[in-house]
Amino acid sequence: MEEKLQDKLCIKKEKGWCNISQEEKDKIFNFSKGYIEFLNKAKTEREVIEYAKKVAEEHGYKDIATFEQLQTGDKVYFVNRDKSMYLAIIGQEKLENGINIIGSHVDSPRLDLKPTPLYEDTDFAYFKTHYYGGIKKYQWTAIPISMHGVIVKTNGEKVTINIGEADEDPIFTITDLLPHLAQDQMQKKLKDGIEAENMNLLIGSIPYNDKDVQEKVKLNILNILNQKYGITEADFQSSEIELVPAFKAKSLGLDMSMVAGYGQDDRVCAYTSFMAMMDLQNVKTTAVCILSDKEEIGSMGNTGMESHMFDYFISELLNKTGENRPNLLDKVFCYSKMLSSDVDAGVDPIYVSVHDKTNNSFLGNGITMNKYTGARGKSGASDASAEYVAWMRNVLEKNNIKYQVAEMGKVDVGGGGTIAYILANKGVDVIDCGVPVLSMHSPYEVASKYDIYCAYKTYSAFWKE
Ligand code: MN
Ligand code: MN
Repeated sequence: MEEKLQDKLCIKKEKGWCNISQEEKDKIFNFSKGYIEFLNKAKTEREVIEYAKKVAEEHGYKDIATFEQLQTGDKVYFVNRDKSMYLAIIGQEKLENGINIIGSHVDSPRLDLKPTPLYEDTDFAYFKTHYYGGIKKYQWTAIPISMHGVIVKTNGEKVTINIGEADEDPIFTITDLLPHLAQDQMQKKLKDGIEAENMNLLIGSIPYNDKDVQEKVKLNILNILNQKYGITEADFQSSEIELVPAFKAKSLGLDMSMVAGYGQDDRVCAYTSFMAMMDLQNVKTTAVCILSDKEEIGSMGNTGMESHMFDYFISELLNKTGENRPNLLDKVFCYSKMLSSDVDAGVDPIYVSVHDKTNNSFLGNGITMNKYTGARGKSGASDASAEYVAWMRNVLEKNNIKYQVAEMGKVDVGGGGTIAYILANKGVDVIDCGVPVLSMHSPYEVASKYDIYCAYKTYSAFWKE
């Protein structure tokens, strides 16, 4: 009797892996194979958008510009400057009654090259870097690094770079001091141990064979780049080259229960929501998927969520469905719902002192909802209303999806933010809803395959409402 009362009244904090069928387990493991492939194929926002555009077209999505008019069931996408993307399936209901949005981001913390990156010192050639997003700098030294991005010449020609992923490719690294000579460095605070100005990527050591030249190794590198890509040193000024960990995403653990890989914040939610959209048909309410850029540096700029590009996309939906009239966009947002699909900090037993175990999320316990994020006293938070949280809990419960409602860490310790507030400020009901991870923002983040599949199921269920 006692146990039954407990079952009835208490939140069950049981691992998702308990009591699941072999069939469900197979589905989880199969889904994660596709996810791992995706992580290895698309490591930057540009690569994710290229991937998503291709897969969307294979699933019948077309560029919204190709439509004069939109009908129920039409599948459209809009690519914004190759770095962010919106997709939609037109529902049976009018847009003015609201739309169902799921929004993730496809940029991840990394190192960018400076505008004039190449220099030579003591017969080594280096690229200078400027880190992007919140990183622990010491984690980025002495690991294999690959180079991704574009260089655009003044004639408009675009050179795409991807070096360090194929087995036959070279990789790069940022060197660190040997412990034997690191007495002073080891005394410093962890955050000061590696200085940003020392995060220089080692890229070469063979001198160009010309005794009259000053910096022979630098010239040799430029010569190699010129022969391969037809570029000069000045062309780096109009480039976006991103340095990311070169190691591959893999299954983690003897039981293969987790995924370790770079950039799971937030490609785990991007992939699961995008795949849920690919499998979606005939929705009642128009379904919209956002893959946004620049979240890690504040969502600013014309590819970030703060820009008006998303309003433009929804206005185009209104125009092409023939619904539009003055100020209708505001009404659409006021009646819309959104899942801000971004990762949460899972409880790490090794660093348990920063967590409130009663209110933080655990890997393997299902999809996580953060009613609010923010830092120390909810500063900067979008706080989802109780009514909306209840609505979403009902969606999850009737679809038998395991979920947890959590905060990120202890109150006084810190916090985080997502794109949730941006849509909430437009009037949308928004809740953060994503996958808990360990080692967030490190070169090798960890997520549970159970939660990854839960995310896919959650996003499907939300759009089918
Ligand atoms: Mn994120
Ligand atoms: Mn992040």
